Formats: sequence, C-alpha cells, structure tokens
Amino acid sequence: MHITKPHAAMFSSPGMGHVMPVIELAKRLSANHGFHVTVFVLETDAASAQSKFLNSTGVDIVALPSPNISGLVDPEDHVVTKIGVIMREAVPALRSKIAAMHQKPTALIIDLFGTDALCLGAELNMLTYVFIASNARYLGVSIYYPTLDKDTKEDHTVQRNPLPVPGCEPVRFKDTLDAYLVPDEPVYRDLVRHCLAYPKADGILVNTWEEMEPKSLKSLQDPKLLGRVARAPVYPVGPLSRSVQSSKNEHPVFDWLNEQPDESVLYISFGSGGSLTANQLTELAWGLEQSQQRFVWVVRPPVDGSSCSEYFSANGGGTKDNTPEYLPEGFVTRTCDRGFVIPSWAPQAEVLAHRAVGGFLTHCGWSSTLESVVGGVPMIAWPLFAEQNMNAALLSDELGIAVRVDDTEEAISRSKIEVLVRMVMAEKEGEEMRMKVKKLRDTAEMSSSIDGGGSAHKSLCRVTKECQQFLERIGDLARGA
Ligand code: UDP
Repeated sequence: MHITKPHAAMFSSPGMGHVMPVIELAKRLSANHGFHVTVFVLETDAASAQSKFLNSTGVDIVALPSPNISGLVDPEDHVVTKIGVIMREAVPALRSKIAAMHQKPTALIIDLFGTDALCLGAELNMLTYVFIASNARYLGVSIYYPTLDKDTKEDHTVQRNPLPVPGCEPVRFKDTLDAYLVPDEPVYRDLVRHCLAYPKADGILVNTWEEMEPKSLKSLQDPKLLGRVARAPVYPVGPLSRSVQSSKNEHPVFDWLNEQPDESVLYISFGSGGSLTANQLTELAWGLEQSQQRFVWVVRPPVDGSSCSEYFSANGGGTKDNTPEYLPEGFVTRTCDRGFVIPSWAPQAEVLAHRAVGGFLTHCGWSSTLESVVGGVPMIAWPLFAEQNMNAALLSDELGIAVRVDDTEEAISRSKIEVLVRMVMAEKEGEEMRMKVKKLRDTAEMSSSIDGGGSAHKSLCRVTKECQQFLERIGDLARGA
C-alpha cells in the first residue's frame, strides 16, 4: 500500500509574533512526526518566515497577497479588529492556493485570528485545528466568558468580583482581559467572534503541557467543566519555544555573560513591543542600580501613554541607536562593572539559556515565559497588557516560579524594584523559585543538548498522549483510512 506523507497546511496571522510560534509547530510536525507542512503567511512576513527555515526540510512557505484593508477598517481600530479583517480578506487566496495543490493537505491548522478559514475544512475535505500559541488558561477563559449571561459578566467587570471558572482558579478583576472591560467596542465583538468559532474545529492545539497548567488542561478536557464549552478536543503540544541558535552567540552580550558567575545575572525585557513611560524607565534604572545585582537590560526608548505602542513597529531587527539618553545620567558608567545594556533587541532565547542568567524580569508574554521555563530561570512578573496579567497570576500564584510586581496605578518605585530584584537574585525566595522552575523544566523532555560557548542548546520535544491521537488522526486521513 502506498503510504502518503501527511500534509498539514498552516495559516498564520500577520506579524512575526504570530508567525514564529506557527513556524515552531511546523518544524516540530515536520522534523519529529514526518509531516509535510505548508505554512501560509502574508507577503509582508514571507521573507522573515523563509529565513527561519534555511536549515529545515519538509516545510514550504507560501506567501499570500496582503489584502488591502484601507476601506474596511478605521486607522484607529484595535489591532485585533485589523488582523481579523486581514485574515478574512485573505481566505479567498488561501482557498485558491490549497485547491490548486497537487497533494492536498489533510489538515488545516489556523491560529487564533484565522477562524474565517475554518469553512475551508468542509469545502476542501480537510480536518481543521486551531492553534493557540498562548496557554490553556487563556484558551479556557476566552471560550468560557462569552457564554456567560450579562449579569455574571457584570459581576466581574463592573462589581469587580473574581470570575469563577469551572475547574480552574478564578480570574481576579485586576487580571481580566482588557477587552472584557469594553463590551460595547468592536475589539470585544471581534475577539468573541473568534473565540466562539474555536469549538467548531476538529481540535484545539495549545502551547502548554500537563505540569505547566494541570488545572486548566484537566478542565478543558472534562466535558463537565470547561470541556463543555470547548467541545473540540484540546491537545497540549507545548512547550513550543524558539530553539536556541548557536549563531546568535556571536552577539557581544555573550562575551560579557561568559565572564559572569552562574545564575548571577538578571535579564530584563518587555517582549517584542512592550515599552515603559519615561518615569517608569527612570525608576527601573535606579532600582536596578540600587539592587547591586548583575543585569542584562534590553532598553527601548520610553513611550508615554501606551504600554504596547511599539508592538506593530517591532520587526525583530536591531537598532543603530546605542545611546540610551533616556536613562539617568551616568547610569551606564556607574553600572558598567555589573550591567550590560542592549538597545532595542537581544537574542533572548539564547540569553535565557545561558548558565550565567539566573532571573528574568518579564512582561509575561507567553513566548518569553516558555523561554524562561525552558531555561530554568525564575521570573519577576511585570505584566503590561493583553493576557499577560493572567499569565503573571499563573506564574506567581499557581506555580510559584515568579514574584509579581504589585499592580498600582502609579509607577513602580525604585525601592520596590530593588527589593524584588534582590529577592529573586540574592535571597532564599529566589533560590526556591529557581528550584521549582527547574523541576518544571525537567517535566518537558529534552530532545537534544549541545553546549556552545557556555550556552546550552535546548530543543524540547514532547508528544503527549493527546497530541499523539491528533497526529494519528491526520495520518489516518492522509492514508485514506
Ligand atoms: N524577543 C527577542 N529579543 C528581544 C525581545 C523579544 O528575541 O529583545 C523575542 C522573545 O524571545 C520571544 C518574543 O520575542 O520569543 C516575544 O514574545 P512574547 O510572547 O513573550 O511577547 P510579545 O512580544 O508577543 O508581547
């Protein structure tokens, strides 16, 4: 009998923040499970996506024309609305490309904003899967909340009571998703439209694993709990985190890190687009300086008014501006014996994998979180926007691998920052968190480990029982079973 290699098509939302996790899943399906994978990205992301596959086989990148949405959205519309419209408008091109393929995909995997493409499953005889690059808690809350009645929602968003979630920790008001607070705005409507479509897929893949989120996963898989609203089977396929590349070790930060003692350096970064106000940046600089701890800090110019204003312009590249004039005068000179400042962009996964790094002050984006766990690094959780508050609660309250910056309307003071940095880097609490996060890391199977210049290359490969069922199902379909 002729056995056909299973062929999965993946359709990514625009922006490298969305494309990267899709690429990691594609690599995993191809390298570890014998899939052929075609990844559909928009033209604007094609070159960057292609460059991530230079050494990979079994994956094709296909560019779809970037739809012109200028007449369809307002410039002020929320990014969620804009991405939703782009993805919807790209569906006809996706349909034509798939229909014209010689070997038809047996499965279509979309990401969180690609739900308008789910109809292609029935049209073109493919199984459909939704890939949530975030975690099970986010998935659970986002499919559960829209099913609640108005009074229950308002009890949470207006009365500010915790939102009970079946089988999971309640969501405190301070951690709720921003969109829930603006139920009359298009961003809420658009988010909900996607979330309500996830259960229509044949399965939902989520970038987490059993030990990382036992409660949420159990609930999503239990038809009496969140499984009632998920309806489709939920497969934990994580941790899918960016593999560490030895080529990135040429960055000058590694010469510096190689000189530092084990687990002595705090790495500070707010993701691909997070930014702080000028005042907060100043407090952070003083807090770091006063803590007397070693650090590597990815510093961006302050942007007052919005904590995610750099999100769309972030492109993963570097900056030529090496002069952080927005830091307190003399900061670099005063801290040069224990600090390393990187303007704009660092090879983060590689830094977190370095033996000298022992703490991470993070905005709690899910990719950063996974990179930290995979590196065995405890965190200072400083959430800024989106689901980062929920992630921070998971890390600090449920898993005990992070200490959380108190949320306050005002800037976090330098003395508070100093205390938190010392707690994680120099005190017993930090040591305990470090042990816990390493235990968690060990629950994810390591498929390879190459040592390069003091940095460990850790590529995690894990196939859970549920994930295996998913793979078998696609494989069966490919074989005509
Ligand atoms: N990143 C990086 N260098 C930086 C900042 C971010 O390599 O200086 C990478 C980081 O390793 C992660 C991604 O960008 O893979 C950020 O994703 P995350 O989900 O943490 O946050 P987001 O940027 O989506 O808010």
